[in-house]
Amino acid sequence: MTRLIFLGPPGAGKGTQAKLLAEVVNIPHISTGEILRSAVAAQTPLGQKAKAYMDKGELVPDELLLDLVRDRLSQADAQSGWILDGFPRNVSQAAFLDDLMQETHQTCTCVNLDVPDEVLVNRLLGRGRSDDTPEAIRTRLEVYRKETAPLIDFYGERSVLRVVDGDRSMAEVTNSLKQIVSEQQGQ
Ligand code: ADP
Repeated sequence: MTRLIFLGPPGAGKGTQAKLLAEVVNIPHISTGEILRSAVAAQTPLGQKAKAYMDKGELVPDELLLDLVRDRLSQADAQSGWILDGFPRNVSQAAFLDDLMQETHQTCTCVNLDVPDEVLVNRLLGRGRSDDTPEAIRTRLEVYRKETAPLIDFYGERSVLRVVDGDRSMAEVTNSLKQIVSEQQGQ
């Protein structure tokens, strides 16, 4: 069973790799960023509440996300595995997911896609998403360092952390990820 959390700074390639890998393994790719962007585009109540935070590069409040993630992971297509991309993003989200995994007697592995800072900014500036302005990028990197990077230790302490060098070609990164998935499936 493949249950993976993708951790890594903005611009690390999480979204691209998580999507590709999910297709290969045939499990859902659950991106909280994508869910939020669709909600913003559809102007749902969630989207209306989330938009201002996203535009600034800040985290959307946990209360908007926790039930959403719980519901998504309980859906039928997620019962044979999932790849979570963009969640958890802070320690309280990670604790929430930990509780959820314990309640449902499940385990998951955390992949940290590691990319040096100077590479990240260039990648993000080249992408052109509406929250890829220099100022929002700066905030997202700061938020990552302060709120999300501590999760590397959180999962390291639980011995479920795998580090993948994200500063390589797409295909090389994909290969490393496939390797991790096949090791998991063999367990
Ligand atoms: P990236 O990792 O490239 O910055 P994402 O698509 O993962 O982008 O997220 C975009 C934005 O959506 C974030 O900057 C944040 O405002 C919001 N967001 C996504 N996931 C979460 C989360 N788990 N908690 C809080 N905010 C989130």
